[in-house]
Amino acid sequence: MINERITPQAGKAASKQIDKQIGDDFITVEGLGKTFSENRMFGSSGSAVRAVDGASFTVRRGETLALVGESGCGKSTLGRLLLRLIEASEGEVTVDGTKLMELSTGDMRNMRAKMQMIFQDPYGSLSPRRSISQIISEPLEVFGMVQSSRQRRERVAELLSQVGLSPTFMDRYPRQFSGGQRQRIGIARAISVNPQFIVADEPVSALDVSVQAQIVNLMQDLQQSRGFSYLFIAHDLSVVRHIADRVAVMYLGRIVEIGPKARIYNAPSHPYTQALLSAVPEPDPETRRARIILKGDVPNPANVPKGCSFHTRCPIAQDICRVERPKLAETEQEHLAACHFAKPMPIPVA
Ligand code: SF4
Repeated sequence: MINERITPQAGKAASKQIDKQIGDDFITVEGLGKTFSENRMFGSSGSAVRAVDGASFTVRRGETLALVGESGCGKSTLGRLLLRLIEASEGEVTVDGTKLMELSTGDMRNMRAKMQMIFQDPYGSLSPRRSISQIISEPLEVFGMVQSSRQRRERVAELLSQVGLSPTFMDRYPRQFSGGQRQRIGIARAISVNPQFIVADEPVSALDVSVQAQIVNLMQDLQQSRGFSYLFIAHDLSVVRHIADRVAVMYLGRIVEIGPKARIYNAPSHPYTQALLSAVPEPDPETRRARIILKGDVPNPANVPKGCSFHTRCPIAQDICRVERPKLAETEQEHLAACHFAKPMPIPVA
């Protein structure tokens, strides 16, 4: 295994504050949905599964929008829908004024230079038979951004340095690297074509806790120097706290709350968000929150409860919740929640 060589830039502490320039809306998502006609997650029942239902939100230039929720809630599917890696059943995604669903296959391929992905699994996402140089330079070649072998190697060397790895690693193979180093290589590949938007699908969840902070810092540094936007998909709310500007919470395929990070963490409006946040470990006993234990399990996505899909587990459900689906509505400026009784509410200290 090669010793990890981290540049000083990449190794700062995770809790740093960054002054960001967040601009206007870069991506607008309206009524995006995906139904899988075969029940791919639960075997052979053949039921339709509504993996994503009516997602509407924006991603601004230079911001990190975190998408959180339990495993199987549809957040990875939503990330892939934004890049058209899977096709939506309905809805629209507009990127910098261009409607993605109207693009031909060729135009969509060109659009992908603007929109890249960092995958969860740093082991499975890098081909074991290709050298680091081949892996990182593949998008450069697809988009015609390098014309010669020398140019390609210079660009790969530059990218390796930018992600805190030695350029001398470029002729080695993925098996020679640790999980953290492989994720750096995946990040180098994603930024190689100068994207404006990156979907990062659980980029640190497969890594040791000690390495997670380094990768989060690296992602923040790269965003600050290059100005791109992230959709940061995660289930770990402690990681999200470090990197997000805004947070969207998903439950059973629907966005149930979205707002600025400080408002979501300090006074969430949806009972599901309140329960998720109450489970985040808090080292300071003075501010440790009382744990909200939800009853039951997440319902089968092939059989989503009528009305509010959270009513079977909600500690404050009323009759209306069983029949009427709540709309995502503003509870305070820029803070929206889908709950008939939504109101910003700090979680009580334990
Ligand atoms: Fe709970 Fe009702 Fe709000 Fe749904 S609408 S989250 S069931 S209170």
